[in-house]
Amino acid sequence: MSLPLEHEVIQRITEELEVIIAAHLAWFKQMNRTLVCGGQVNHTDLETDAHLRSPFGMWYYNQEPYVLESTPDFQSLGAIQQAMHENARLALLSIVDQRRPTPELYDQCIDLALRLNTTLRRLQLDIIGELLTTDSLTGCATRRGMMRRLREEQERALRIQRPCCLCLLDFDRFKRVNDDFGHPAGDAVLSQAMRFATGVLRKYDSIYRYGGEEFLICLPGTPMKEASMVVERIRAGLERLPIRLPGGDSFFTTASFGIAEMNPRLPVEESIATADMALIRAKTQGRNRVEMWA
Ligand code: GH3
Ligand code: MG
Ligand code: MG
Repeated sequence: MSLPLEHEVIQRITEELEVIIAAHLAWFKQMNRTLVCGGQVNHTDLETDAHLRSPFGMWYYNQEPYVLESTPDFQSLGAIQQAMHENARLALLSIVDQRRPTPELYDQCIDLALRLNTTLRRLQLDIIGELLTTDSLTGCATRRGMMRRLREEQERALRIQRPCCLCLLDFDRFKRVNDDFGHPAGDAVLSQAMRFATGVLRKYDSIYRYGGEEFLICLPGTPMKEASMVVERIRAGLERLPIRLPGGDSFFTTASFGIAEMNPRLPVEESIATADMALIRAKTQGRNRVEMWA
């Protein structure tokens, strides 16, 4: 999974999944009891749309757009749950007819119910894992797993023969922001400015918190000229972005940028070092500017 998700969103989805899993297990226990011991069959379970009416169904089908939609586990859940309800419906119909379900049908019910539980739990664990790879202040990806993902981009660039650019962003005179307005104001810059920068980027671009107030942007499938246009849009937008403080005051800030094309044949670290040289040039040439290292 590489979404990244805000911490509040991760917490909300984790809690939602906990409720869904608990409801599923309660349903599973009741259904199994009826199949084994007989007794009153829940009429909703005999309907062909039982899968839509369960807590899972209401959660799964009523989300739009949903952040998890693109993940394979989320996509497979629907089919598993629908098949589970269809098998349970047939098995419960045998109970209504005072017959026993076949062992095959019973096994299928149990297997699908357990698979649903496992898939829901795996999804929940993957989402909790996102906490490690998302920076809570800025919503950007953390350095954890960054090199692996950059190497994947490098391999992809080589395979599809399209350039991939790396850009280092470093806020200007950031120490002064902290000194003049206080540390929370510095945090407000990082949070608001990086959310703005993320909004400018395209879906397949990624942005990592590389150091304290330094960020690394990866622009796959992008030649240097195009990358410089995207980055220039971020630079110009940041310069005009009022950073709002909790008291209602606002102020402006700038950042410097260094871009390098990822060299497909050298270690990624060397391309980052090249972007850093471009960044240093942007700083020495007056800050609030974009420099490219060709
Ligand atoms: P330059 O234009 O040369 O980059 O100047 P600068 O002041 O930004 O220099 P430098 O990069 O050395 O300073 C970074 C400062 O950023 C130092 C550190 O206290 C501050 N900083 C790093 N992480 C955070 C953070 O999470 N919150 C806040 N408020 N400050 C941070
Ligand atoms: Mg700085
Ligand atoms: Mg710095």
